Amino acid sequence: MKSSYKERIARRLTLVTALIFFLVFLLIYLVASYTVVLSIDHELQLEIVEHQEEFFIDEREVRFLHQGEWEEMEHAQIHLNPIFIEVVDLEGNSLDRSPNLEENHLVFSFSKSRSQKAWQTKIGSLEVRQRQVPLFTSGKQVGYLLLAKSFADARELLNNLRSVLLLIYPLILVTLYFSMRYLAGKSIEPLEVISQKTNQITQQNLNERIPDSGTNDEIGQLTKAINNLLGRLEQAIQREKQFTSDASHELRTPLSVLRGTLEVLIRKPRTTEEYGLKIKAVLASIDQMSAIIDQLLALARVENGQNLVKEELELIAFSEEFVDKIATEKGYKIQFQSEVGIPIYVRTHEKSLEMILHNLVENGFKYGSEDGVVFFRVGRSEKATIEIIDSGRGIDSVHLEQIFDPFFRVQEAVDLGIPGTGLGLAIVKKLAQESGISLSVTSEKGKGSSFRLDFNEAS
Ligand code: ADP
Repeated sequence: MKSSYKERIARRLTLVTALIFFLVFLLIYLVASYTVVLSIDHELQLEIVEHQEEFFIDEREVRFLHQGEWEEMEHAQIHLNPIFIEVVDLEGNSLDRSPNLEENHLVFSFSKSRSQKAWQTKIGSLEVRQRQVPLFTSGKQVGYLLLAKSFADARELLNNLRSVLLLIYPLILVTLYFSMRYLAGKSIEPLEVISQKTNQITQQNLNERIPDSGTNDEIGQLTKAINNLLGRLEQAIQREKQFTSDASHELRTPLSVLRGTLEVLIRKPRTTEEYGLKIKAVLASIDQMSAIIDQLLALARVENGQNLVKEELELIAFSEEFVDKIATEKGYKIQFQSEVGIPIYVRTHEKSLEMILHNLVENGFKYGSEDGVVFFRVGRSEKATIEIIDSGRGIDSVHLEQIFDPFFRVQEAVDLGIPGTGLGLAIVKKLAQESGISLSVTSEKGKGSSFRLDFNEAS
């Protein structure tokens, strides 16, 4: 079974904390034992300073500066923190020892005689720390003084400390695991609400949104991001619906005209002239439908043709060629202008650029002035540009954005009977997006319009 997110978080945090606590506890134990040993070694040093001068050896006999030393309470009884003393000759043979050693001896070691450092050893079953220092009589080394101090108290203290640390270690970890699990659960609660609500949203209730927590933390940002996504989805679906309904409406109109004309035509016999007129009307409706279908297919092709391959193209030569071609084919009067004397290389999709220019020049003439001249200007300011300028009827500023929506036509154009489907600029906008060209328009009602294309120059 897969563990839940909160369990995984709790487990990982507990694991990290377990490691940290282990190291901290180990450090506490090591520092404590080091301090205890240090303090005993310090006491041993004090005892050595106190006793080293009190002994001297004469003819293998231990003599004392102060008689009765051995009988001193401290060395005669095994009390709480006793000092054990033994005097040995240069070979390590015991010469005398404190009574509290009873039948036991302190361990003599040749190797320790040089380092003079304390070490851990045992007297019978008692753990002690011992030191060994040389004894001198009249400036000559005559033996060794062995001193030991009980380690029992220190050992008990260290054992107690270890037991306490070992006991609280699992306790801390268990408490930590459950607290982390609880806290992690609490902090992902808002995510559960988000996922529940998101699961409830379908195409039918796409207008609903995830309740905003009102904070700007990560959860708040996630909520906003999902709500924005839902908003964009809703708009896209709305646009799609609008597009389908507009497309059917645009096709239904010429179809109704077609049907109406034919129905009238078959009601009674007509003269050849009347037939001719009606058939012309029928053909016009068919032309209108076929123009719409062609444009719809073109739009669908642009939408499906993602990642158009962009190639390097010389803008001035390409534009001249294009203007010559369309002027010859359609008999348009186009005034070509180029302020730039040197070639301009841009990266774009050639066929798309041709379609864009074709649509814009056609519109320039459709909605242009009586004299029928359109300016085609190639230039270079910050970027390489093409401007298609007409001095026609212009576009009202309220329509400047709408003209790029599919099927949108300014009512005036419809009323004047200017042929069109309202799809041309939607196709231009899509093609420009796909080809990396930025498209903008400026227009003044009654004065004319200018459509401008900005290109990324090839490096
Ligand atoms: P269509 O030309 O088939 O109607 P478009 O998408 O090309 O469709 O244009 C949308 C609308 O924008 C046109 O109906 C027209 O009202 C307006 N328009 C486009 N180009 C121009 C222009 N150069 N001058 C004035 N109006 C224009």
